[in-house]
Amino acid sequence: MRSVCEAAPQLAGMQPYDPKYLPAEAFLSANENPHDVETEIRREIMNTMRRVPLNRYPDPLANDLRDMIAEANGLDRDQVLVGNGGDELLFDLALAWGGPGRTFLNLPPTFSVYESNARLTNTAVVDVPRTSDYRIDEEAVLERVGQGGIDYLIVTSPNNPTGELADELFIVNLLEATDALVMVDEAYFEFSRSTMRPYLQQHKNLVILRTFSKAFSLAGVRMGYILGDAEVIREFVKVRQPYSVDAISQAVAQVVYSHRASFEPGIRAIIEERARVVDGLKRIPGVRSYPSDANYVLLHVENAAIIWEMLYGRGILVRDFSRAPYLENCLRVSIGTPEENDAFLRALRDAVMGKCDLPSSLT
Ligand code: PMP
Repeated sequence: MRSVCEAAPQLAGMQPYDPKYLPAEAFLSANENPHDVETEIRREIMNTMRRVPLNRYPDPLANDLRDMIAEANGLDRDQVLVGNGGDELLFDLALAWGGPGRTFLNLPPTFSVYESNARLTNTAVVDVPRTSDYRIDEEAVLERVGQGGIDYLIVTSPNNPTGELADELFIVNLLEATDALVMVDEAYFEFSRSTMRPYLQQHKNLVILRTFSKAFSLAGVRMGYILGDAEVIREFVKVRQPYSVDAISQAVAQVVYSHRASFEPGIRAIIEERARVVDGLKRIPGVRSYPSDANYVLLHVENAAIIWEMLYGRGILVRDFSRAPYLENCLRVSIGTPEENDAFLRALRDAVMGKCDLPSSLT
């Protein structure tokens, strides 16, 4: 055959997810931990790795890891599910609670993967945009869920890319106001130190998403998990790929999770650096930064796309949202090492003051 029939109609006009990962000296674009897993823990990972059978399928549900996460959160194994990164669990959410005739309530601007997953699964999307300072329009959300017809929604706390925490009381009111499944995406909760976990017992419609990719330095391994009611978790198990979390990832995550307390000083250092970066941004004329409880900061600057190019010309990769809906002239910078943060602040100041060379593509 020299031709192929068209792909599923919902793919028409969709763009593949593009994290815009380019070579750079300072990667400040993907909200990763700037420090890799420390040597001692790495050594333990290597030793464990030697015993991982490669010829056998992995435990499909990663029960040993599930048990560790359950115990740490005061839950049972059947209230936890691990996935191939939080991303897989977000897709599973759309498969299990979305679909034709079903509706997802989105709170843009937020993580763009949510909307893509809804579209891929033929789920209708209803937007309740955030206010001009990127806070959730709480009244509008409660009013919309009150009208009925919403099957699931995601409250990202802290929100990506804007950085602010959702109000705890608002989430509780939301959980009371609807029987829609409410996922609270806590991918960055180790930096905000705020969680809805204590509310799981009372609210069957609450499910919490977490990841190993940020605080635990494992973006390369792909490991995320959800906490929720056992019946909700069972629905996720129905749609997930049976062996999505491979044996190596399970082993690495178990070692890292058993040492999670040792990541605390690094997390604290990132939180301190975040304050320093925000302070530095305040000193650069024409730059407005938004408060952040995560390991990144959103900033607004005129001609952001050109500024992005200038920063990249200096080896600094930040995330350009300047053409994204609701985020005109916005860039997001991840908190890196102190040296990377200094280099970023210096380069941004130079770019804004016109001391950076214009990239050749623009001259
Ligand atoms: N939720 C949010 C808000 C995120 O920013 C990310 C990572 N960009 C994820 C979930 C998924 O993370 P991962 O798949 O690496 O676990």
